[in-house]
Amino acid sequence: MEISKVMKFGGTSVGSPDRMRALIPLITDSERKIVVLSAMSGTTNRLVEITELLYAGDVDQASKKIGEMRTDYHQVAEELFETDSFRQTGHELVDSHFDYISNFTLRIFTKLQEKAILAQGELLSTSLFHKLLNERNIDALLLPALNFMRIDKDGEPDMFYIEENIIREIEKLPAGNIIITQGYICRNAFGETDNLKRGGSDFSASIIGAALNVSEIQIWTDISGFHNNDPRYVENTSVIRELSFDEAAELAYFGAKILHPSSVNPARLKNIPVRLKNTMEPADEGTLITSSSLLLDYKAVAAKDGISVLRINSDRMLLAYGFLRKVFEIFEAYKTPIDMITTSEVAVSLTIDNAQFLSQIARDLKSLGSVEVEENQTIICIVGDFRTERTGSAPEIFEALDTIPLKMISYGGSPHSLSLLIDTSDKVKALRLLSEHLFK
Ligand code: ADP
Ligand code: ASP
Ligand code: MG
Repeated sequence: MEISKVMKFGGTSVGSPDRMRALIPLITDSERKIVVLSAMSGTTNRLVEITELLYAGDVDQASKKIGEMRTDYHQVAEELFETDSFRQTGHELVDSHFDYISNFTLRIFTKLQEKAILAQGELLSTSLFHKLLNERNIDALLLPALNFMRIDKDGEPDMFYIEENIIREIEKLPAGNIIITQGYICRNAFGETDNLKRGGSDFSASIIGAALNVSEIQIWTDISGFHNNDPRYVENTSVIRELSFDEAAELAYFGAKILHPSSVNPARLKNIPVRLKNTMEPADEGTLITSSSLLLDYKAVAAKDGISVLRINSDRMLLAYGFLRKVFEIFEAYKTPIDMITTSEVAVSLTIDNAQFLSQIARDLKSLGSVEVEENQTIICIVGDFRTERTGSAPEIFEALDTIPLKMISYGGSPHSLSLLIDTSDKVKALRLLSEHLFK
């Protein structure tokens, strides 16, 4: 039987025994589906803390934290199941995962072990949820993501491998409507356990949906759809009912936490609608992301922190050709993507969000001119109607932000967005001002 949809449930949606039980009515219809689960909320953060302690050689503190997590998960197992035999199985399952994690306190700690520990959150949530369905006599199958999900040497999903393997793995399964798998985790080009970076379960869902050509990818979370501004910083944000792939991709890439930055792409390439839904309010229609959507002057605002700007000033740029190529080659050598760029006769400013090689890049750029670096910057992305043939778009943005220094402006790069660079310390003020002026 064909797989009709992918349903991804995030950390809060599986964050407690009650929440896990609340998912049952959402997934028990007559359609065959893939259920992608994140780790229970807070789990990945706690696993990250443990890996940091192990890197630092603080085995005592790491062991203490592993012990605390083990206790909390035993409590989950205790509350999740109704029968003694399933409770017993749940406790054994919890112990097996935490015994495995504890093993890493005894050896030298490397990236390999770090990734293996980070994978335990999703492995735990999916196993516990699978057992819960078993206890209720609901047919459910567990499909290990590590058997099909894979990234290449650049960290990009290896779609050819994934398609071939997920189809083969599903063909091996017995009949059953509910196929549970882990979000976030994957193998890398060397076959080692790896992950799709923080928030990566959305990406897993979209990759799986694209690989299986499903008719809809659903992302279930703790809010009723995509809001027009970041609800963590701004009051009275409102939900957007329709977004295009391009608009959603831009907002996700520029910081809207509701979606992993790359998660729209696989769905967009296969033209599969993505629906954002709220597990706490399943009747709410949420947001639908498709290939087209109504144009609005201003649709939404998002912010991406952790940006560094490099400003290169060089007389050699004046009337010269080939200058930018030399600049770009330096970023390429360090595999560092550029987010925003603006140029003048004798200067070019570029932003990056991966500062791993910032000092090396700045050093190499000095061969081309004087270089200035500023960290702790934020890109504000405003999605709306910025088609080049239009007049009058944008003045409200500059009126709204007339008290905030704008360090870079990117306009005309995309028909549906305008981006600005500001100091991170101005971010919350900027987001609030934009909401007041654009969405009132
Ligand atoms: P999950 O664990 O389900 O993946 P996340 O915490 O990753 O959930 O994403 C949902 C959260 O994203 C919301 O609770 C909200 O605080 C935050 N968020 C940030 N920007 C937006 C936005 N534009 N629209 C909706 N939610 C947003
Ligand atoms: N559990 C992972 C994280 O917290 C992946 C996800 O939730 O999407 O980043
Ligand atoms: Mg998320």
